[in-house]
Amino acid sequence: MKKNKRIYLDYAATTPLAPETLKEMLPYLKKDFGNSSSIHWFGQKAQEGLDKARERVSQFLNCSFSEVIFTGSATEANNLVIFGVVKDYQVKAHRKGKIKPHIITTKIEHHAVLEPCRELEKEGVEITYLPVDKEGLIKISDLEKAIKENTLLVSIMYANNEIGTIQPIAEIGKLIKKLNLRYKLRAPSYKIYFHTDAVQAVNYLDCDVKKLGVDLLTLSAHKIYGPKGVGALYIKSGTPITPLIYGGGHEGGLRSGTENVAGIVGLGAAIAQVSSFKFQVSRISKLRNKLIDGILKKISGTKLNGSREKRLANNVNISITGAEGESMVIALDQEGIAVSTGSACSSRSLEPSHVLLALGLSPKEAHGSLRLTLGRYTTEKEVDRVLEVLPKVVQMLRKISPFK
Ligand SMILES: *Cc1c(COP(=O)(O)O)cnc(C)c1O
Repeated sequence: MKKNKRIYLDYAATTPLAPETLKEMLPYLKKDFGNSSSIHWFGQKAQEGLDKARERVSQFLNCSFSEVIFTGSATEANNLVIFGVVKDYQVKAHRKGKIKPHIITTKIEHHAVLEPCRELEKEGVEITYLPVDKEGLIKISDLEKAIKENTLLVSIMYANNEIGTIQPIAEIGKLIKKLNLRYKLRAPSYKIYFHTDAVQAVNYLDCDVKKLGVDLLTLSAHKIYGPKGVGALYIKSGTPITPLIYGGGHEGGLRSGTENVAGIVGLGAAIAQVSSFKFQVSRISKLRNKLIDGILKKISGTKLNGSREKRLANNVNISITGAEGESMVIALDQEGIAVSTGSACSSRSLEPSHVLLALGLSPKEAHGSLRLTLGRYTTEKEVDRVLEVLPKVVQMLRKISPFK
């Protein structure tokens, strides 16, 4: 095995730092170490780095400079949205004697959205978790039916991190706009805010916030070949939101704490490269198709999870009967191939993936799932190698499997 280079097919978990991005970050880890709040030369250099990154992110999202804030992760950005929008409403509602807010999200969101919602539920905030069909898509009519007069926030992810299903965000944006206009006639202060977690979408889909019709959008640097520990949030000007972290008033007062300048510069560099790598999308989706078709053809008892058409270019998620997910991950790792699974033990919870269960898979099918996510550095040779190794791994595991 040693002869073969390790194959990384877990780009949805994280991506390697692009050398071009590292190069732009390095000065800020060395000579340009200043605190952007300082007035002197060192401070100004750091501020220039932040400004350039904010400019690049706002260009990518087609929004204005002041509508982008940086956070410590996409998880933090999502928390800020869920808690911050609700808290602002509660403070105002308390003054006006208004009713409890209502949030609509989906059953297949990332934990960084679901867990804040569960927390708010404990305080009596109403949450609707929209179901998805067997491909992982929400129905717009379900969303429309779920909207009530106290609906404050709709949070629906752009593309799912496990199964790659792409939600019709622009269509949802249009619906919310229409409803906001309609309700405005009744109650001028009434407004539904629309958030999308676009972390997995940035590399592959159009993230123009005007076209999407969103008020809030989350992204993360380490999913786009940038550094870990940096996220960004688009907040449409005028969106009422309260900070979670108070202090020196950084990031427009919404996220105090001395900025992670090198990390933010890395996010800016990474997002600036996304468009120049757009030519890769068709290459990656061809490799994805080869992988999907190859697995389905070479291994019996396999099925693709998620949608075939409305699917991220880099996502493969397959259920394999008679083989347990975690065992497959370990066996593949021994062959130098890194993939992931929605099976219980590998994640911290004991439950199988909530996303696969929401598709209607049985716990057993969910336990036998494998996620392979491709990226910028994936080669056809690597895909061929997986197609050679995986059938053998499955055959071996099926022989020893306790659950058939
Ligand atoms: C990775 C991921 C996150 C979390 O991003 P971090 O920056 O690691 O906190 C949130 N949502 C989705 C869809 C993700 O894939």
